Amino acid sequence: MNNDIERVLYSEEELSNRMDQMAQEITANYEDKKPLVVPVMTGAMMFSSEMLKRMNFLLNVDIVKASSYVGSKSTGEVKLVQDVRSDVKGRHVIFMEDIIDTGHTLKYLKELFEKRGAASVKICAMLDKPDTRQVDLQGDYVGFSAPDEFLVGYGLDYDGFYRNLPYIGVLKKSVYEK
Ligand code: 5GP
Ligand code: MG
Repeated sequence: MNNDIERVLYSEEELSNRMDQMAQEITANYEDKKPLVVPVMTGAMMFSSEMLKRMNFLLNVDIVKASSYVGSKSTGEVKLVQDVRSDVKGRHVIFMEDIIDTGHTLKYLKELFEKRGAASVKICAMLDKPDTRQVDLQGDYVGFSAPDEFLVGYGLDYDGFYRNLPYIGVLKKSVYEK
């Protein structure tokens, strides 16, 4: 598995240090708000569980599953494969996402939850690819600004694999250009 990685972009330690800072910021803003934290599955599973361990205050967790990716290119069409079971009305919602790329996924989710009457909707993303944005959408808490390359690890997959890498790396082109 590790041989398929061109180079490591963010090590486990770098990710951990950055998550400490982000969690501190979020704690300062939310510790008395009992927010509804919504990890966007499956990509955000590792990032969100690490973040949640660092958020030591009352909150709820409920997941959504969205998909907009086929292979290594975003299609722009968002599908909500699984919805939350919670009542969103009046809640302070924080989406946890692995990476913001075109922005389609989170724009869709944000607007949907606003329509449902959330008191606020913010976005916490491990990575942001500002160069490939197609819609007007910004992360509120962002770990790192990433280059326009295909990344895997720390929840990010290619064809379902590599999610379990404890770091984020660039996948060798030879792996997906076969
Ligand atoms: P968006 O709707 O912003 O274009 O896409 C967001 C989703 O695309 C992310 O949640 C992630 O699943 C996927 N994605 C975007 N860039 C990458 C990447 O470099 N690697 C992987 N594995 N997935 C990506
Ligand atoms: Mg995703």
